Amino acid sequence: MTTPEPGDIPVGRERDPDCLFCRIVAGEIPSTRVAEDDQVVAIRDIAPRAPTHVLLLPRAHIRSAAELTVGDGALLGRLFAMAAELARSEGIADGGYRVVTNIGTWGGQTVDHLHFHLMGGRAFTWPPG
Ligand code: AMP
Ligand code: ZN
Repeated sequence: MTTPEPGDIPVGRERDPDCLFCRIVAGEIPSTRVAEDDQVVAIRDIAPRAPTHVLLLPRAHIRSAAELTVGDGALLGRLFAMAAELARSEGIADGGYRVVTNIGTWGGQTVDHLHFHLMGGRAFTWPPG
């Protein structure tokens, strides 16, 4: 039995070889990385819907935000801190921006690996369509 290290992937959240974002995290499919740490990878969305459209992916294969638990507090802190840092470096922090995660079919989720969209550079409407 080995002691878990920071950045270890928890049991049940190992890489899924059929998952697009697991393959991007592993570097098997090319992407434009804008930031990364031991738990999170941030890439540019391939079909941007705003002047800045970045996806923040946990390295662990978590199917959606519906699977998050209180034990994921540190991971979520990392994700939102990275989003705020990227918003500053992308020059969208002052104007305001949106961080969104879609869940399930009606929520508009098309890739079943948790990701947060960081979008900015234009005004968004509310409620979303
Ligand atoms: P969602 O619909 O919320 O699941 O978001 C999935 C996002 O992944 C969409 O905005 C897609 O444009 C984006 N996407 C799909 N394939 C790729 C890829 N190969 N590289 C980067 N982004 C991608
Ligand atoms: Zn995955």
